[in-house]
Amino acid sequence: MSTHAEEKLQFLEERLKELRESGLYTHIRTVQSPQGAWIVVDGKRVLNFCSNNYLGLANHPEMRRAAVEAIERYGVGPAAVRTIAGTLDLHLKLEERLARFKRVEAVLALQSGFNANQAVIPLLMEKGDLIISDELNHASIIDGVRLSKADRAIYRHGDVDDLRTRLEEAKQKGYRNVMIITDGVFSMDGDVAPLPQIVELAEAYGAIVMVDDAHGEGVLGEGGRGIVDHFGLHGRVDIEIGTLSKAFGVVGGYVAGRAIIIEYLRQRARPFLFSSATTPPDTAACLAAVDILERSTELVDRLWENTRYFKAQMREMGFDIGQSETPITPVMLGEAKLAQEMSARLFEEGVFAQAIGYPTVPKGKARIRVMISATHSREDLDYGLRAFEKVGKELEVI
Ligand code: PMP
Repeated sequence: MSTHAEEKLQFLEERLKELRESGLYTHIRTVQSPQGAWIVVDGKRVLNFCSNNYLGLANHPEMRRAAVEAIERYGVGPAAVRTIAGTLDLHLKLEERLARFKRVEAVLALQSGFNANQAVIPLLMEKGDLIISDELNHASIIDGVRLSKADRAIYRHGDVDDLRTRLEEAKQKGYRNVMIITDGVFSMDGDVAPLPQIVELAEAYGAIVMVDDAHGEGVLGEGGRGIVDHFGLHGRVDIEIGTLSKAFGVVGGYVAGRAIIIEYLRQRARPFLFSSATTPPDTAACLAAVDILERSTELVDRLWENTRYFKAQMREMGFDIGQSETPITPVMLGEAKLAQEMSARLFEEGVFAQAIGYPTVPKGKARIRVMISATHSREDLDYGLRAFEKVGKELEVI
């Protein structure tokens, strides 16, 4: 780089230095095998406690077959955005099948869950409207809110009394439309939003309700139908955001809910209009995932069995695993450096469990997040538990 360029980008040197010094610089590991309970990471075979592959669909034979067959029939790329020439019959079929699975009026399939949030929030909520958001909502919701010209208010995490106060303030100010947005399952803590109370408040104040079900799908509800099904709130939640990259094992996202909302999104949602459609193999694999989920609850049941076992054992050993109610198991450590050190030691012991620090979680709340999967056998879980016990004692966490 020329001296001039170096000077121009000096601020980035400083920012990176700060990250390194505070233990917040992420070392990105490389996976060299298919997804599963055991994977090869940076050349080492390790127990996988990091993936969102809740049900093991990411490398399921039926999914692979569906993707290969779609390539044979349609090729690899959509070659256009959905509104020009990118809508395949596969996309429409997926939307129809997802709507049936989620028990909603309609679905719009998009490229990712991240995009789904960008599609909905700024489009529906304009100047003169108000968005009320849980303080721990996912980054993709926060960014969607930032793109909107509506006013915004934050309520304390999962606190329905605080939400009521925000709604009361909104009423005083006379906003045109009010939308409440919450994660269904909070991805870093694994706790579940108090959706029944949120819906009741929304109904009382005439607010639109949107829930991001990324970590609830394939996990909560009958056969993994998600948080709305879990609480029996069908028809009372206006918008559900879904991802096809976690329990569904592929990549993609969707918006599920009232037909009129989906119709409007098809006309105007920017990621739908201005970014290419998902590929034929991805879309076909997602269809296969719906088949698998509709056929049997076996994988979801196994996921929960594994979750209950692992969490009970971790608690018994004395780890602080927070308020999680789902397979997401945060091992609370506090300082980012400790979390990084523990993750590195676990890796040496053959366990891949990633440290998570600021800005993904607040400063001083660093943790290791263990993701339980239906692919783990009892022996796998025991292997992981032994490693946690050994390293936990060594670092005086327990
Ligand atoms: N919302 C939530 C709550 C998430 O946890 C995630 C994934 N980290 C997303 C949205 C984004 O989903 P995707 O990976 O499909 O973009």
